Amino acid sequence: MYDQLNHHRSIPGFQRQIIWRLLALICVVGVLAACGNASVADQSEGAESADATDTTSTEVEEAETGTEVTDESTETGAGTESEETESAAEADVSAEETATESTLEEPDAYGGTETNIADTSDEATEDDETALSPQLPATVTDLNGEMVEIESVDRIVSLTGDITEILFALDLGAQVVGVDVSATYPPDELEALPKIGYQRQLDAEGIISLDPTLVIGDEAAGPPAVFDQIRAAGIPVALTSDPPTLASPLAKVRFVAEAVGIPEQGETLIEEMEADFAYSEELLARVTSPEPRVLFLYIRGNQTQMVAGSNTAADAMITAAGAINAGAEAGIADFKPLSSETIVAAQPDVFLVLDAGLESIGGIDGLLEIPGLAETPAGQEQRIASFDDLYLLGMGPRTGEVLIDLIAVFHEEVQEATAP
Ligand code: MG
Repeated sequence: MYDQLNHHRSIPGFQRQIIWRLLALICVVGVLAACGNASVADQSEGAESADATDTTSTEVEEAETGTEVTDESTETGAGTESEETESAAEADVSAEETATESTLEEPDAYGGTETNIADTSDEATEDDETALSPQLPATVTDLNGEMVEIESVDRIVSLTGDITEILFALDLGAQVVGVDVSATYPPDELEALPKIGYQRQLDAEGIISLDPTLVIGDEAAGPPAVFDQIRAAGIPVALTSDPPTLASPLAKVRFVAEAVGIPEQGETLIEEMEADFAYSEELLARVTSPEPRVLFLYIRGNQTQMVAGSNTAADAMITAAGAINAGAEAGIADFKPLSSETIVAAQPDVFLVLDAGLESIGGIDGLLEIPGLAETPAGQEQRIASFDDLYLLGMGPRTGEVLIDLIAVFHEEVQEATAP
């Protein structure tokens, strides 16, 4: 149903590596030939970008829920190690793909494969377009109730994917100098940015080396000792809370906009987001079908298969879209391993999954091979809705948009009414 396009290429990893290395070599040779010694600075910039992309391959690439689930599985003893290995393998694949794609399609991203003149003019245009006038110093209260003062937003390191998306939505992308690997949106703009690792496994030295004037994120970021080190280096760290509720996206936008000294732009973005929420409520008012029972499954291959209960972003999204969270109804809180008892108790009409999860298990056919799933109403009707991780669960600026999508998936009469 919402099975989104599969962007992954089917080139085997070994060949991809060779292709990537060859292309990198060609780029370097090309730059040397075109610009001679005058472009030394450009080359090293290109090399830096390539290094940053390569680093990603050694890090775990997962968005928000991924970690929450990992944490849960640690508690419940459900194969954490193998999950990490798989995730790392996934990160490997997507990092290499990123590298290959950008080399093939967007040489500009490597800043140095084109002429110096083009690069300079691009940068100048970018600066003009994003010439915001932040009111600084700005002060915000962080999630521990501490006041944080920010004097400059010239170099921002963003620790979590949702906060990164908010910074870009506020037109502050040009000031972002580092992001974590859960940051997947906006994809093109993020491609060339240095990666600081995974939001829950951060390393202070890597962040400090980017010379940030502001380090910002939400409660998912950690471990806490990292922030003591960053603060000791004289760099302000602004962390906000991120409860799994629909109030969270608006509160996070307000926090970020205040922290970077552009509160009015924050309110403008909030108004746009509220318009999406208002439209989703209009759609809900048109619903005539009964609320479907939806089971959210977090899947990473055969090793990690979890169900979302109450107190999760998935629960908030399902219930706000006019459906019943069948996991919560079966008595589950947070994320718990999928069991046959849960499936029997839940009797879902729809399975809600993440694109990466569905892919990891071999698509819809693979999903329905999990014992018990094919016998549920959702399995028999093959009602499976799949979304991107950060889009569905990030509680970012697009939360209202994904709600509108969900309502159309859960209520076919609304889908017909809104179809172009
Ligand atoms: Mg978050």
